[in-house]
Amino acid sequence: MSEHYDVIIIGTGAGGGTLANVLGHAGKRILLLERGDFLPRERENWDPHEVRANGRYVSRDTWYDDEGRPFQPKVYYFVGGATKMYGAALYRLRPGDFGEVRHIDGPSPAWPLGYDDFEPWYTKAEWLYQVHGTHGEDPTRGTLVEGLPLARRLPRAQHPAAQ
Ligand SMILES: Cc1cc2nc3c(=O)[nH]c(=O)nc-3n(C[C@H](O)[C@H](O)[C@H](O)COP(=O)(O)OP(=O)(O)OC[C@H]3O[C@@H](n4cnc5c(N)ncnc54)[C@H](O)[C@@H]3O)c2cc1C
Repeated sequence: MSEHYDVIIIGTGAGGGTLANVLGHAGKRILLLERGDFLPRERENWDPHEVRANGRYVSRDTWYDDEGRPFQPKVYYFVGGATKMYGAALYRLRPGDFGEVRHIDGPSPAWPLGYDDFEPWYTKAEWLYQVHGTHGEDPTRGTLVEGLPLARRLPRAQHPAAQ
């Protein structure tokens, strides 16, 4: 405990890892704490049936809800977290997702922040993770101020909003 760190980050998934990347470049001394081991490299890493259907890497933890009922939380404890398993599809939420959404089981209240608050941060993340894809085909999507780093953008005349 004689070591000094500017920041201690608990968990090394997308959240902790991204934070470590940004703070590391800002010159901060960082300690990353991770409860999981390194994911063993094996054939099943690339097998969606093993990962998804068989839950090969899901923790065997039991958690309890507010009424004491046990449930399996489907969490992954590894260096890299659940992010070691993820499908690498990085979508933005739509502007409408931040408002109140009425589901069959009841309303999901509006967020205190909206799409525009997140837009610059989405852009930073997309550049960090080299997101690529097409923007402009789905009119419910929000605006991209800078565009995707590796995007194939539709010509303006083909944009659905221009039809
Ligand atoms: C099979 C699969 C496919 C997915 N595909 C996609 C996709 O295509 N696109 C997408 O956007 N999302 C996808 N997701 C969801 C995405 O992976 C998660 O939302 C994301 O990884 C969560 O990142 P996180 O940093 O919040 O948590 P995690 O990546 O789970 O990281 C949390 C970390 O904290 C550690 N930890 C927990 N408790 C402690 C403790 N007490 N002390 C120390 N460390 C601790 C854990 O071991 C873990 O490493 C997918 C998820 C799965 C499982």
